[in-house]
Amino acid sequence: MSDRSSTASGHGHQETRICFCGLPCPLRTSSSKDNPGRCYVGCPKFKDGTATHCKFFDWIDDPVNDRIRAMLSELKTKNKLLEDQLRHKDIVESRLYFLLIAICGLCLALCSMLMYVIFEVPQGIDRRRLPF
Ligand SMILES: [Zn+2]
Repeated sequence: MSDRSSTASGHGHQETRICFCGLPCPLRTSSSKDNPGRCYVGCPKFKDGTATHCKFFDWIDDPVNDRIRAMLSELKTKNKLLEDQLRHKDIVESRLYFLLIAICGLCLALCSMLMYVIFEVPQGIDRRRLPF
């Protein structure tokens, strides 16, 4: 299928491929189970889903063998697990930070009240009746 498409020089080492609609095709990376991480080009209208598009599609990379596919799948699973753990850690950390701020505020309020009672008890209040 790529034999019928034309090419135009682009920046970088890779030439920009032109689809049958005459549009430059962006380089994309597959995330499918069969071709994880494999680069390809295709009609840019295909991803829109709204417009009619041509059938231009071409793989850039060679097919991934089974061993590499299994390794990529395992790494993807581990990466997702680590991202979940990191997200959970961030949530716990933000809650602990909020708790620390609340405890500091409470301590400051208690110290202020204590200082007020010790040094500035207004006239008419019997200090012996205070709970502390
Ligand atoms: Zn096209």
